[in-house]
Amino acid sequence: MITTALTIAGSDSGGGAGIQADLKTFAALGVYGTSAITAITAQNTCGVDAVQAVDADVVAAQIRTVASDIPISAAKTGMLFSTDIIRAVAAAVRAANLPFLVVDPVMVATSGDRLLQPDAEASLQNEIIPLATVVTPNLAETEVLTGAKVHTLDDMRAAAEHLVAHGAAAVVVKGGHAMTKATDVFYDGNRMELLESVVVDTTSTHGTGCTFSAAICAYLARGATLLEAVRRAKTYLTGALQNADPIGQGSGPVGHFW
Ligand code: PLP
Repeated sequence: MITTALTIAGSDSGGGAGIQADLKTFAALGVYGTSAITAITAQNTCGVDAVQAVDADVVAAQIRTVASDIPISAAKTGMLFSTDIIRAVAAAVRAANLPFLVVDPVMVATSGDRLLQPDAEASLQNEIIPLATVVTPNLAETEVLTGAKVHTLDDMRAAAEHLVAHGAAAVVVKGGHAMTKATDVFYDGNRMELLESVVVDTTSTHGTGCTFSAAICAYLARGATLLEAVRRAKTYLTGALQNADPIGQGSGPVGHFW
């Protein structure tokens, strides 16, 4: 029987990030994808022109309606945008009793456009992160969540410990491509692992974070352990960067089918 996953995230009309990246990742990894859309963005590879939030009760209804019919093997959150949506998602996720929740604490797009209102950062931290199986912040998001500068590998390890001490079951602090290797730090309160992959020389990086968290979600849905799911997701992301599509005039999307 096919496994299923749910993404709770924003729509990217350009197809590179958000819900669209998540559903492509699920499909590429053989998982049936469902979605709860939190916000609609008018977006292309160059940036975000407009954002329309979905009513919080309609966001919750999407989660409730999907989960009441389709057994969800794993879920992820991406762009949650506002405090109202975060509260509704937290309540609906708790009620749906989802087996795994991957939280990508999306705050600002690479283009600089805000995908989370600044006054919603506290509710993301207090209401969503405690529900997470794993949280996947990049360096900028890690700094917001810990209130400390994160530059070195030691900073990343300290931040991972801080996030687990403050309610995350596990965390992957994503170092991005700032170093000679694309280095992430995994910590689950027990194991601290350094995860490395090659740096792919491409400007087509739009949707990288969405794709990584969706791949973790898909592998969890398929029965991998958390660390296995994270390792395989990193391998998938390297492939997605190596097979990025030459689409648009800005930062092109990662690829999903090769
Ligand atoms: N748009 C939406 C709806 C997203 O969820 C995200 C990322 O999480 C982005 C845009 C940002 O994508 P990127 O920073 O990879 O360009």
